[in-house]
Amino acid sequence: MNEGALPDRLARAITLGGPIPLSQFMGAANAHYYATRDPIGAQGDFTTAPEVSQMFGELIGLALADAWDRAGRPPARYVELGPGRGTLAADALRAMASAGLTPSVHFVETSPVLRAAQKERVPHAEWHVDLVGVPEDGALLVVANEFFDALPIRQLVQTAEGWRERLVACQDTLFLPITGTTGFDAIIPPSLRDAAPGSILETAPAAASVMRQLARRLVAQGGTALVTDYGYTGPAIGDTLQAVRDHGFANPFDTPGEVDLTAHVDFGTLMEAARVEEAQAHGPVDQGLWLSALGIDARVATLSLASPERAGQIAQDRERLVAPDKMGELFKAIAVTAPGWPIPAGFA
Ligand code: SAH
Repeated sequence: MNEGALPDRLARAITLGGPIPLSQFMGAANAHYYATRDPIGAQGDFTTAPEVSQMFGELIGLALADAWDRAGRPPARYVELGPGRGTLAADALRAMASAGLTPSVHFVETSPVLRAAQKERVPHAEWHVDLVGVPEDGALLVVANEFFDALPIRQLVQTAEGWRERLVACQDTLFLPITGTTGFDAIIPPSLRDAAPGSILETAPAAASVMRQLARRLVAQGGTALVTDYGYTGPAIGDTLQAVRDHGFANPFDTPGEVDLTAHVDFGTLMEAARVEEAQAHGPVDQGLWLSALGIDARVATLSLASPERAGQIAQDRERLVAPDKMGELFKAIAVTAPGWPIPAGFA
């Protein structure tokens, strides 16, 4: 699977080996998508919270600095998973420095295009392909915004014969979901086992695995992680797979590698994954409530006083991050901490 365009390679792989799990399709599509472009911002496919306003990264930086201070100011490393353009990190690091915290910086990023964008904003960062490369000493102050939603999911579908996995087949050059034949009833949570035919249950093995790895490192080294994303407290029934292109929705099975594939994050399961490794998990808290608790309104006032001509825009940006019908309710925050570390602000 190395030559030619991604859709051709996927089609050939499916022709040779048969239909593939959705997770394999989504993983290959997103690896290609992120490796070949910077998709973030008005010119791209989607806009994220740190690109809406500097206040998002600043408040995260201050929340981390406060937790670090209450933990006794140990030597620390800032770690960000999927830092995008590096905007959040730049804003957070500036705010941390104002609070006396200047950690070393570690970015977990696979995309060469986005690594280049991150280097422009945070030249002194070190890059890693996964958490394994992050040094094993020093407390970890971890951030992940819209990272977990990009990791590949599996889907199970209820049929008259029981639960089956959703696979991706290929007909001519069209990709389409089909229902596999292997039974999955044993892994369905008891409360969902009798869901109506056609019901879909998503599992996120990659997200769970990254979270367990992260939690192990937090327990071993000390520290805290702030994870923000759109999602729900599951496990629950629902098909949340979506494709985004040019700020609108697209068909997830068309043009793999050219659209952003995401799924809503099941924070219930993600927090359980952290607890399996004996880390503590807090939340989820709606993003609007969380940013308000972290003091976004005070920050709006300060920024508006410093630049009165921008006050209208700053108020609009705040609204976009906080309002329930914008990003305030669908987006949520959780905190994962080492035992003995303080609960980060906004999760009390
Ligand atoms: N956090 C940024 C970007 C979100 S987009 C923001 O809020 O703007 C998702 C990010 O995760 C991108 O940086 C993408 O390249 C990265 N990413 C996606 N899958 C990844 C993987 N498997 N390993 C490491 N990084 C990944």
